[in-house]
Amino acid sequence: MKVYRRLLIYLKPYGVHIVPFFVFTLIGVFFSIFQFALIIPLLNFLFDSHSAAEMQRYAIMPEFSLSGGYFKDLFYYEVYHLKSMKPVYALYFIAGIIVSSVILTNLFRYLAQRSLVNARTLLVKRLREAIFEKMNRLHMGYFTKEHKGDLLSRMNSDVFEIEAVASNSLEVLFKEPYVMIGYFIALFVISAKLTLFTLLVIPISAIGIAMVTKRLKKEAQDMQTSIGRLLTIIDETLMGMRIIRAFNATDFTLKRFSRENDFYRKASLHGFKRRELAPAFSEVAGVTVVAGILIYGGSMILQNQGVNASGLQAPSFIAFIAIFSQVMRPAKAMVVALANIQRGEASAHRILEILDTPILVDDRPDAIELTSFNEVVEFKNVSFGYSDTPVLKNISFTLEKGKTLALVGPSGVGKSTIADLMPRFYDVSSGSISIDGKDIREFTMESLRSQMSFVTQDIILFNDSIFNNIALGKPDATEQDVMNAAKIANAHDFIVQTENGYQTNIGDRGIRLSGGQRQRLSIARAVFKNPAILILDEATSALDTESEKYVQEALENLMSGRTTLVIAHRLSTIKEADEILILQDGEVVERGSHFELIEIEESIYRKLTLMQKIA
Ligand code: ADP
Repeated sequence: MKVYRRLLIYLKPYGVHIVPFFVFTLIGVFFSIFQFALIIPLLNFLFDSHSAAEMQRYAIMPEFSLSGGYFKDLFYYEVYHLKSMKPVYALYFIAGIIVSSVILTNLFRYLAQRSLVNARTLLVKRLREAIFEKMNRLHMGYFTKEHKGDLLSRMNSDVFEIEAVASNSLEVLFKEPYVMIGYFIALFVISAKLTLFTLLVIPISAIGIAMVTKRLKKEAQDMQTSIGRLLTIIDETLMGMRIIRAFNATDFTLKRFSRENDFYRKASLHGFKRRELAPAFSEVAGVTVVAGILIYGGSMILQNQGVNASGLQAPSFIAFIAIFSQVMRPAKAMVVALANIQRGEASAHRILEILDTPILVDDRPDAIELTSFNEVVEFKNVSFGYSDTPVLKNISFTLEKGKTLALVGPSGVGKSTIADLMPRFYDVSSGSISIDGKDIREFTMESLRSQMSFVTQDIILFNDSIFNNIALGKPDATEQDVMNAAKIANAHDFIVQTENGYQTNIGDRGIRLSGGQRQRLSIARAVFKNPAILILDEATSALDTESEKYVQEALENLMSGRTTLVIAHRLSTIKEADEILILQDGEVVERGSHFELIEIEESIYRKLTLMQKIA
């Protein structure tokens, strides 16, 4: 329950919606009890069971007072008055009152629901927003550890699960206890003895139900994590459809999917079996008690007959059983709700897990704005590891304004990691990175990142127009600015040839464009941002010579006049770099310009250039 209390915080300023819910519910409960209590006068009337003294009392209009007795007397006065005109009138009257109270019961029930819906939809909206916002603030390392499918399922099916709990179970738990208390008061008024007897049912069924619902939470947890894995498989399959087909891996994928799907089915099957057991159990327990009441109450009536007219009478006994049968409904609803709440708790946990994940890379409270880059970026003895194993060891270098620094080394040596440290996708483990002499952790991340642009190997494009893909994150961009950027990136010509020019939608991840076109769009995006510092993870994917020429030109345009950190794969592109760092085992092993390094007889760089036939 503690987890739910935490989720309810999201309702805070809107908690007032709950007040009308309680008011309407109370009124509704009153009328629903009233409608069953009306059975007593109906039966009394039909069986003519009133004594002569009572009949005398009902013959005159009672004097007004705010008491149950007054309304009862008034009711009988009306009934007998009508009966004296024509007996069926009295029946019309009683039936009319029953129908009116049913209408009122349902009207107030509806009003109560309506006021709850407000709070419920708000809770769900805010919860989703909170998760999404948190996801946008979490450090990058989080996303390599967590499965994408799992995150999607937390955002989706877990939130749905909470919505279901909020819409049904919470309502039931807020409302039904009143209903039950109301019914029990009515029962108590009719017969205290019998009511005490029925109370026995509560501890017995509570124990049974607790046993049944105990494991529900674990099963629900299994189900939700399984959904996460299913989503991961679906996502991977959709993304890798071409490869799956080309490698005839369809069977493999199907098997993987079906194994997971089977697991899900089993988990949900166990859950269902258990959940369905709970209401069945409570119903059997309830009916057994009704049988007990029949025996106990019935014998009370048999004893009373003719001996003690003020004891329990048949009409009251029938009303008692009718009302008691109604107690079963909220009791059953509460059992089901408790079972669902157990299930929902698993989801609540999974959601809170995201919300509680500490943000490892965040702005300091006293962070300042980085307004401009004027002199130098400096890495000083930087070490870093994603886990305990160090990836970078004691890396030091400086990158002066307007210069180009190239990182060269075998795959996995940590080049991209160095690039990721500059915009603080991760924070260094030791050492420091500074801009113009100030540690980058002193700046707000937004201002730090606004000074940088990325062109990465895996080009991230969104299913949106070309315009929006270039002007990413800047909705107020002008057509002219976007067009200028596209021209510098050698992209304008192909863009205007597309169906709707800059407004053409490029499909999922830019699927409707060629590799070279996608690259030029991502370059245009970097140009448009007009950053002081450029981080370039040079593409390895082979392009045809024509495309490559365009892309190369675009890159040169982009780099000119900027400070660039380039991760180089083809040495031909970095001949012009001011400094080249050769990395090995997470360390810088050689540094210098192309011509300096090539002069060194045994240099790794020289060997690499010979391999790539660049002299
Ligand atoms: P490069 O760019 O030189 O190919 P990377 O910087 O991508 O190398 O990777 C350096 C090392 O860090 C590799 O051993 C890689 O396995 C590891 N690595 C990269 N990214 C992550 C990550 N998100 N979580 C854990 N390890 C990672």
